[in-house]
Amino acid sequence: MVFQDPRAHINPTRRVGAFLIEALVRNRGVGRKQALARAAEVLAEVGIDDPARRLRQYPHELSGGMLQRVMIASVLLAEPRLVLADEPTTALDVTIQAEVVGILDRLRRERGLGMVFITHDLDLALAVCGRVAVMYAGRIVEIREAEGLHQRAAHPYTLGLLGSRPSIDQRAERLHAVPGRPVSAFEAGPGCAFADRCAHVRPVCRESRPQLEPFQGGLVRCHRLAEITPEEAPV
Ligand code: SF4
Repeated sequence: MVFQDPRAHINPTRRVGAFLIEALVRNRGVGRKQALARAAEVLAEVGIDDPARRLRQYPHELSGGMLQRVMIASVLLAEPRLVLADEPTTALDVTIQAEVVGILDRLRRERGLGMVFITHDLDLALAVCGRVAVMYAGRIVEIREAEGLHQRAAHPYTLGLLGSRPSIDQRAERLHAVPGRPVSAFEAGPGCAFADRCAHVRPVCRESRPQLEPFQGGLVRCHRLAEITPEEAPV
């Protein structure tokens, strides 16, 4: 798993090398020297220069972007088949974000890894992922292929998110926003969790929870799909 903030997950009192080889030495019985050599190889693979020196450094001596690469290297040393990347670029500035996303994407292709990429940035999700699952109040409300999501999105929340993105081509007095505030999974009532914010809400929406059902090539959780057309969007 690649965590959001590497500084919160890499022990600041131990050298980078000790952090990287711990699991190899303790859990897999790899010799320390061999484990350090492997760690240096993987650091080079994620674009860190002079890996031998980096292994001797402490986390505070590395920038945020470099530390996130160290975290990705630690994941690769475990030789996973599936990587869970939990907002891996949120704590980084935009240029470093692009580099880290590029590294994850390259590694995914080269190593044939599966990746679940969690993000609040819809454009980033569309750029990185093959399939997008939009969640609201702890539940998936829509799943679709990333390509064509703009044209095929059907759930009012997905449509609201798409409509809230600023456009570089069009001027607007105000940015569109989905009205109201997000609710947590604990606050959601027995019906649709999005009901208080949805322009299409009807009594049935508050009475029973909609299920995730096939709709136009994807899966959508909404009682009124047949009645809501994309022209009505955004909410
Ligand atoms: S079930 Fe009702 S409230 Fe929920 S998204 Fe669909 S139309 Fe809106």
